[in-house]
Amino acid sequence: MEPILRGRFAPSPSGRMHLGNLFSALLAWLSVRRAGGVMVLRVEDLDPGRCRPEYARQLADDLRWLGLDWDEGWQKGGPHSPYLQSQRTEAYAGAFRRLEAQGLLYPCYCTRAERLAASAPHRSDGQAVYDGRCRHLTEEARAELSRTRQPAWRIQVPDRTAAFSDGLQGPYAENLLRDCGDFILRRSDGVYAYQLAVVWDDGDMGVTQVVRGRDLLSSTPRQLYLYKRLGLTPPEFFHVPLLLAPDGRRLSKREHDLDMGALRAQFTPEQLIGLLAFWAGQLEQPEPVAAAELAPCFDWAKVPKTDITVGALPL
Ligand code: GLU
Repeated sequence: MEPILRGRFAPSPSGRMHLGNLFSALLAWLSVRRAGGVMVLRVEDLDPGRCRPEYARQLADDLRWLGLDWDEGWQKGGPHSPYLQSQRTEAYAGAFRRLEAQGLLYPCYCTRAERLAASAPHRSDGQAVYDGRCRHLTEEARAELSRTRQPAWRIQVPDRTAAFSDGLQGPYAENLLRDCGDFILRRSDGVYAYQLAVVWDDGDMGVTQVVRGRDLLSSTPRQLYLYKRLGLTPPEFFHVPLLLAPDGRRLSKREHDLDMGALRAQFTPEQLIGLLAFWAGQLEQPEPVAAAELAPCFDWAKVPKTDITVGALPL
């Protein structure tokens, strides 16, 4: 018997969801429902400075309004409770200690400005590669620095290629040392980093398929490294195109780009789903349709790989 597919929505409640978030959510949902799998809702509210409970409530309400339901997760419960990352800190601390016991972690005292100076060259995605300078500090230097600074904690990465095959984008590889660099697992304010939390949670929650925006493709080699070091089984990944504003910019929560507040005022759920499904290659025309009607015919082979400009939106 085929194992049951387990997919997830993993939104961050740092603003109202925009059309790009909905696009990823719809594809994740269709893929799970087509396969008769289980959908999990996990709220990624790790960063207390950016996330707010009212955004979490809103996003759950917005998903329901669109007809994108979930079987397990926040507001619903299930075997892997809690489903709010802010309530899972103990689990991340456990994962952190397991990596620490392998001798892989070190404190990094660099300030933000120093981190940028210690990072070269910039990757094609604009992220900086840390040069590992705090890896080699002497005990004396660490003791001296800790008198005035709280360190972040980084994991050492080997000079090795991490390769995988993305379900949509195909083969992808990065050298962990040259292209990623030692990366942060816990910030200097004690907040666990996204990379650690997402890997621990997907592994712990038995997620077998991750569908998310293409901007996270370049995080995947780092995450695969963590899966390996933590002895967890990685899911399959599908990195879906981003939606772009007419000027070529990615839609963003900060800009309130086509967010659910504006969209709900002007569209029915069926109109919105129809539009998203058309961009996702599942409909010939952007015509109103319920998400549930699309699920039986959902086909990954029809989903475009490259980003989509949404200038023509009839708003
Ligand atoms: N929480 C992340 C976001 O909202 C998504 C993380 C993931 O899908 O791995 O951008």
